[in-house]
Amino acid sequence: MSREVAIVCDFDGTVSERDIGHHFFGRYIPGTERREELMDRWKVGLISSRDCLEQEIDWVRAGRDELDAFIEQERLDPYFKDFIDFCNRRKYDIHILSDGLDYYIDRLLMKFGLGFISFKANHLVLEDGSIQGIEFPYYNLMDCTMCGNCKRYHVEELEKRGFYVVYVGNGYSDRCPALYADLVLAKEDLLDHCRQEGIGYVPFENFRDVERELTTRLILEI
Ligand SMILES: [Zn+2]
Repeated sequence: MSREVAIVCDFDGTVSERDIGHHFFGRYIPGTERREELMDRWKVGLISSRDCLEQEIDWVRAGRDELDAFIEQERLDPYFKDFIDFCNRRKYDIHILSDGLDYYIDRLLMKFGLGFISFKANHLVLEDGSIQGIEFPYYNLMDCTMCGNCKRYHVEELEKRGFYVVYVGNGYSDRCPALYADLVLAKEDLLDHCRQEGIGYVPFENFRDVERELTTRLILEI
């Protein structure tokens, strides 16, 4: 019996080449020390990513113009578009889940002709060109208080619908869903985390690797 496949991708540093939110705040929050301290507290789990984002958005000194100019320089993984074609040929469901901000994800997907991909992220509130704050429409849906948008919730929803869920990610916000996906492809911080915690994973560098791994593994595993 075969199951339908859902591919769930993190955005920052996975679909996009850089962690866009992280670099944007780094560029537009004056001073580095207080933010470094904030990031350290988040990385060891003393504060949630929601706490972290709310503080960063309060500190940031930029509006829509700066944000748009910043986003304009960003690129996606060079093999991501080919990977989407591959998924479409195989009729895999594609989802992007992000604990970052919807504004830049939407802009970049549209820019690269990928606006049809569904994504869920935290919502950046802009008014008359200025940043007002962040809304968290998916906060604490799984009794998880560590994430702003806990990806575990969305992964489990897909599994309840019968999907075999492949998770592709690189960072701290991918720790929650990695425990619940059927297959994890990991790099960078997520790879270290999986290794330390004994969570099964397949390493990757880019979406060409992901495509190659799925070509063989999905036939074997489903
Ligand atoms: Zn979570």
